[in-house]
Amino acid sequence: MDTPRLRPALDQVPAYVAGKPPAPREGLTVYKVSSNENPNPPLPSVVKVIEEAATQVNRYPDMGVTALTDALAAHLAVPREQIATGTGSVGVLAQIIQSTCDPADEVVYAWRSFEAYPIVVAIAGATSVQVPLTADHRHDLDAMAAAITDRTRVVLVCTPNNPTGPSVQHAELEAFIAKVPKDVLVVVDEAYLEFVEGEGEVDGLDLRRRHDNVMLLRTFSKAYGLAGLRVGYAVAPEPVAEALRKTATPFGVNLIAQAAAIASLEAQHELDVRVKEIVAERGRVLDALREAGWQMSESQANFVWFPLGARTPDFVAACGEAGLSVRPYGTDGVRVTIGEPEANDRLIEVARAFGPA
Ligand SMILES: *Cc1c(COP(=O)(O)O)cnc(C)c1O
Repeated sequence: MDTPRLRPALDQVPAYVAGKPPAPREGLTVYKVSSNENPNPPLPSVVKVIEEAATQVNRYPDMGVTALTDALAAHLAVPREQIATGTGSVGVLAQIIQSTCDPADEVVYAWRSFEAYPIVVAIAGATSVQVPLTADHRHDLDAMAAAITDRTRVVLVCTPNNPTGPSVQHAELEAFIAKVPKDVLVVVDEAYLEFVEGEGEVDGLDLRRRHDNVMLLRTFSKAYGLAGLRVGYAVAPEPVAEALRKTATPFGVNLIAQAAAIASLEAQHELDVRVKEIVAERGRVLDALREAGWQMSESQANFVWFPLGARTPDFVAACGEAGLSVRPYGTDGVRVTIGEPEANDRLIEVARAFGPA
């Protein structure tokens, strides 16, 4: 062989299919509703901080991410030792798998769920154990508990679930955790936490406090609107948080990202208003679609799920015609982000014309 030898584990790594930007359409504003981004530009106060930070990028960022860690600790009222940051919560997730899994160790998670999961697991040489969602697109926590073996190191619980939308309830998660061996880490991926409303929803910080094998994964990419800056964090038991700091890319969270994340925590109230608008739009979209005869499942996130089966490619094409770039998942269905009100109007129109199954 005259080529460099690469790890065979990489042959098992699926490609990440990123949401596509919309194709330009003559005379039509097009919208990217394929990546669950926040449609609002950063707040002016945050942009100002980003501009100031930009003048300092000849320096390395604070490797300890001290100021942001302190700000998060204060914001969440948790000890700073329980916080670890990373290059997006996907970066933190990769550190989790690296910190816990040797080759052939198992990671249990629902499927379909976030498509980064099989990727980070495969890169580590670990084994994915995918547990099908229930017929109503929820986590099947009983089946997930039953899938745990003595090779299981991590269980990922994505709530609300990307791409289908429903959340896990606090009581059912609590009952699930009671069945998980104490040396198996339960990771609650709360990327869409801020969009969740209603009774009985997961109180992650409460579970984190009461269980030494539970950690939370959160991000500035969605509600906070900083997807382009790549910053996420974990709230984890101290030994786990320490392992995450060890496995972090040195200086990975850059200084613009650190500054913008702090400024966003300070602008919490302004951002909350925007989140409420998106949640209201979600309700409006779901109501309109149900009225048009679509059987939409609940969504607690900033997207809605169309379980279209074989009709998936046709729906994607119809959305494309209308200037909407949406996210297909094989022939399972289509996820559409709640975007600008005009984009949401357009989605309702397309779905009405396309017709429910
Ligand atoms: C978007 C998303 C993330 C966040 O990714 P970042 O790396 O923080 O941008 C994490 N988990 C899920 C389920 C997501 O959908």
